[in-house]
Amino acid sequence: MPACFVKPGVASMKISFPFRNLMPTFFAGLLDDPLLLLRTRSNGRHFMFDCGQLHHLAKRSFTNLDAIFVSHAHMDHWMGIDSVVRHLIAAGKTVDIYGGPGIADKFEHKLSGYDWNLAEDYWSNFKVHEVFPDRIDCELFPGNESFIRRSLPAEERNGPLIYQNDFLKVSADCCEHRVDSLIYRIDERPTYLIDRQKLEAMQLVPGPWIGELKRCFLQQLSYPAELKITCREGNQFREIVIRDVGGLVAQLNKPQRTSSIGYVSDIGFSRQNREKVLTLMEGVDLLLCECTFLREAEDRARSSSHLCTSDVNELLAELKPRFFLPMHLSRSYSRRHQELYQELEPPEETTLLQLPLQLTPRPLLANEIDWHCYSGPER
Ligand SMILES: [Zn+2]
Repeated sequence: MPACFVKPGVASMKISFPFRNLMPTFFAGLLDDPLLLLRTRSNGRHFMFDCGQLHHLAKRSFTNLDAIFVSHAHMDHWMGIDSVVRHLIAAGKTVDIYGGPGIADKFEHKLSGYDWNLAEDYWSNFKVHEVFPDRIDCELFPGNESFIRRSLPAEERNGPLIYQNDFLKVSADCCEHRVDSLIYRIDERPTYLIDRQKLEAMQLVPGPWIGELKRCFLQQLSYPAELKITCREGNQFREIVIRDVGGLVAQLNKPQRTSSIGYVSDIGFSRQNREKVLTLMEGVDLLLCECTFLREAEDRARSSSHLCTSDVNELLAELKPRFFLPMHLSRSYSRRHQELYQELEPPEETTLLQLPLQLTPRPLLANEIDWHCYSGPER
């Protein structure tokens, strides 16, 4: 698990998250622009939540990137998108970008700041999804056509779900932050675990049929109308036909617990936002939440639509996540950041995680460059 998460009072220790398949890494320090990178262990794919400071991410993190989920387009949450395009331009893939209404225009304006006359067939595509309450609009920016925007059919939206694959699903709601700001919940999807004891008790012989049922389960496909399986009775084998395949799947499935992560970026502490956070984040195992201000600056939090420590304490008392990571503290507290942890009062079932102030070395000054390394071999 990521070493950047540290329990309070402990210099450094590994944290045992309950996730079977999700591997979260928060790639920003307490004061840096936020960026959560999520990897699915089973297939090595990456998902990015917010797109702030990312110059320190290895290029491989980008080549495995499937989708980016942006909370809002304030510069500290969105400026990294240029680097994403730069790293992926020649990767020949399609990357999904999710954000609030207007994010496609903002992406188009970013791209229009560059010349794309050298476009090649192998350039990547970007599919931008604008999340509305009742639908998701989709705009394609094809690399081989110099990113000239093309509208694709909108999808209907019923409920919070906006994205899913075989291993995870992402839900969202739109909060107020003087602009729309999306909050995200990531749930592990259950896999199909066969209960070997039940299989044995039913005297069924394992075969390719198990893989076929797993595929139907994960991809939410219809089960076959009937299934021929070999059955063992003593030393005898005979073929049987199962007609209630869905019933067999339910019978053989080993119950499992799935886990979830909540990502709450900049939001104001209005009554509506509070209700939305409590509803979408109910039962999450790991909550990452902005906490820009200390209690003393509640008026600044209100006027800029951010959260302060007393707001976050109220949310934690209701949500009781197993782990909580406060993030995105105002840089004005760089010398007083310990006060953040002193003011936070998570319930006893919640483990408070701490970030270092900054994860990356500070940038160099001109007088720190060693010019001798440019002078070539000594003569
Ligand atoms: Zn903001």
